[in-house]
Amino acid sequence: MKKILGTSLLLLSMAVFGQAKEDSIQFAKISTEILNNGKGYTELRDLTKNIGHRLSGSESYEKAVKWAEQKLHDAGADKVWLQEVMVPVWVRGKESLQIKTANGKWKNLKMLSLGNSEGTGGKDVSGEIIMVKSMEEYEKLSPEQVKDKIVFFNYPFSQSYIETFRGYSDAAKYRTTAASLTAKKGGKFAIIRSLSSAFDDVPHTGAMRYQDDKKIPAVAVGNTTADELAELLKSQKIIVKLNSNCGMKGEKLSHSVIGEITGKKDKSVIVVGGHLDSWDVGEGAHDDGTGIVQSIEVLRTFKNLGIKNNHTIRVVCFANEENGVKGGVQYGKTAKENNEKHLFAIETDAGGFTPRGISLEMDNEKRKQIQSWANLFLPYGVYDFKNTYSGTDLYPLHDMGVPTAELVPDSQRYFDIHHTEEDTFEKVNRRELLLGASTLTQIIYLIDKNW
Ligand SMILES: [Zn+2]
Repeated sequence: MKKILGTSLLLLSMAVFGQAKEDSIQFAKISTEILNNGKGYTELRDLTKNIGHRLSGSESYEKAVKWAEQKLHDAGADKVWLQEVMVPVWVRGKESLQIKTANGKWKNLKMLSLGNSEGTGGKDVSGEIIMVKSMEEYEKLSPEQVKDKIVFFNYPFSQSYIETFRGYSDAAKYRTTAASLTAKKGGKFAIIRSLSSAFDDVPHTGAMRYQDDKKIPAVAVGNTTADELAELLKSQKIIVKLNSNCGMKGEKLSHSVIGEITGKKDKSVIVVGGHLDSWDVGEGAHDDGTGIVQSIEVLRTFKNLGIKNNHTIRVVCFANEENGVKGGVQYGKTAKENNEKHLFAIETDAGGFTPRGISLEMDNEKRKQIQSWANLFLPYGVYDFKNTYSGTDLYPLHDMGVPTAELVPDSQRYFDIHHTEEDTFEKVNRRELLLGASTLTQIIYLIDKNW
């Protein structure tokens, strides 16, 4: 009996070992194929240089839709289609923020209106700055103290977190709520210190939200300007003047772009995706051009290596992540209406930097199974499977019970350039970008095979 048990254990462990060996050979094939023949980097150059930034509702976004459609065909998708979605149209227009100097002259400050913010309608709006360093400090101010003032929320991006997303999340409420909080106490407009990990003067835009009908403007300044304002305020009053034309211009019919290779065994779906839109400054390279080209690379690699996928592998280029998430919401709604079974969905929307891990938002059993594959990823520098969030566009799927995930790249440089004019193709490294595509292909290969 003992001997039989021993033999079967040996056979079992040989089978498990054989599986692991087969998987590690496939992992190497995927990585080698992508690093040598991957097209993601040249495609990203094309997207960022020939189309550029692509805010929802803009002409360049519509060009990006046609571009993504073509790239999915080129990559070998069996089927490519557009999914209709109504998106908000926000337009920036001309804008300036000026500070009154000692000799009475006005001097320009580098600034960006926050996305979705209303402007001043092209008129000058000026007033005295009052600065707060935190929400708690702001709450202590009376409406009399805030009335007709410009509130400057000078809350610094925390340098303490190793994962910079935590610093970003910590500071995000200043961007989303500054305008409405200021309006509630009668202030004229709000200025925030940018949600930026850098020590420079680059302003970062990003979505804000109004809590009620009092829609006053909100703008961001770079960290150097924020520090200079704080320094000046120690010894003097500061008067600033805003003139901006931004605002919401209704809605427009737009599209997410979807392409897939059909499952050989069944039609249940594995999603890999990023968002095709970007803010209206820079080139939307790391956010999220890299996610788009990495997702397309996954499909192409399955095709090029002739990997027989059991389930349908679907690339989704989501519309309108940045200022509405309408693409993600529409995708979830349609999946529900069509009764599509989704096995797994992963997003790549944290920059095209060296992959470090995969964040897993799913039940414990599934998380543990994926974590048990960690050794396969180690030779590729991918080790971090502890986080439990997933991408914004996948929340509707997550709410339907689909296991969701997000690629976790190195985060040290992302918030230096996120939502700025600095988010350009030149900031992307080819190998880092393609390693991310390789990690995505590897995890999808394992899920397709085992789930
Ligand atoms: Zn993004």
